[in-house]
Amino acid sequence: MTALQQLPDVHGHFGPYGGMFVPETLMSALDELAAEYDIAKNDPAFQNELGELLHNFAGRPTPLYFAERLTTNLGGAKIYLKREDLLHTGAHKINNALGQILLARRMGKTRIIAETGAGQHGVATATVAARFGCECIIYMGVVDMERQSLNVARMRFLGAKVVPVTAGQATLKEAINEAMRDWVTNVRTTHYILGSALGSHPYPMMVRDFHRVIGIEARRQILGREERLPDLLVACVGGGSNAIGLFHPFLDDASVRMIGVEAGGEGIRTGKHAARFQGGKLGVLQGTKTFLLANADGQIELTHSVSAGLDYAAIGPEHSYLRDAGRIEYDYATDDEALAAFRILAETEGIIPALETAHAVAHVIKIAPSMSSDKLIIVNCSGRGDKDVSQAATHFGF
Ligand SMILES: *Cc1c(COP(=O)(O)O)cnc(C)c1O
Repeated sequence: MTALQQLPDVHGHFGPYGGMFVPETLMSALDELAAEYDIAKNDPAFQNELGELLHNFAGRPTPLYFAERLTTNLGGAKIYLKREDLLHTGAHKINNALGQILLARRMGKTRIIAETGAGQHGVATATVAARFGCECIIYMGVVDMERQSLNVARMRFLGAKVVPVTAGQATLKEAINEAMRDWVTNVRTTHYILGSALGSHPYPMMVRDFHRVIGIEARRQILGREERLPDLLVACVGGGSNAIGLFHPFLDDASVRMIGVEAGGEGIRTGKHAARFQGGKLGVLQGTKTFLLANADGQIELTHSVSAGLDYAAIGPEHSYLRDAGRIEYDYATDDEALAAFRILAETEGIIPALETAHAVAHVIKIAPSMSSDKLIIVNCSGRGDKDVSQAATHFGF
């Protein structure tokens, strides 16, 4: 293992990023969680139970699929899709939700709370809460509830209570604030299943670890199929969990280039995008120190993305570190580019991706034609697009 793969340190620092910026009342809960996770991760009984659930309940391993028509149409590098969209509940989120519900059970916590943006994390959390008979409360901004109404209904059918959040921009950031407020009040009985590689230590490390299975499988699958490592990995980056899950097991492989794709929204102008590495700055938000979109006074700026799951002002701290280290490159795709990619993948491969995923596909569409046909790309197909069909249909006038 290289130093890159050994981070964070015991206090959750990825170089100058990460850490634990939380109210005093949450410190003991976070310490308890970090300690329990430390024991669990080395406990074969925990790993076996998680492995069994990932296999029989969630549907792992997911296929590594050769996108033959997309490859031919683009006329460059060979494109593979890591099919996280085929998982139970329709996105990679279930990997982390399963890991955390098992930890909650070990800690004797039976009340589960979570935030959600696009609703995929809320659905995954409601699903594992139902599976283990836990009470479940999901905080969701009213703007997101409207654009992702299918997922709101799914959560309710799964027995979760969906609490509308109307503060501020009424999207993911405000939903996290409400979830943290609940946790402070109910910390003795409650576990907060945070949905991305974000927030205070130990979440960025723990969520990453639960998603590393994506990259571990992809590495084995591409070696089996092509007998060599890929040249390029591409994933969309909201908080950064699907991306770090794919990338992390390859960090040590110097020949593998990695690109994270942020939400360019309507273009890189204040309030119109969510690309933290395009004009963002160092700051602290919701438990962690990282790159975020803030004005000169440090006030968090408005964000915009067509995809609710990428519409957040901060990026996971490990991404800030790996960008500084020059190990991962970051680019962005606009709303229009993502919407176009959504249709292209549907029409060429018969796969309707999530709008989040479509940002990664959009970048592949830009870059693959300039690469020779002996090059290999793996793009993380982080989720399926059922939740986005009505929004896209309205956009395209279907
Ligand atoms: C939540 C979500 C994302 C963004 O979250 P990350 O933590 O950056 O992975 C991307 N794709 C899908 C399908 C999602 O549901």
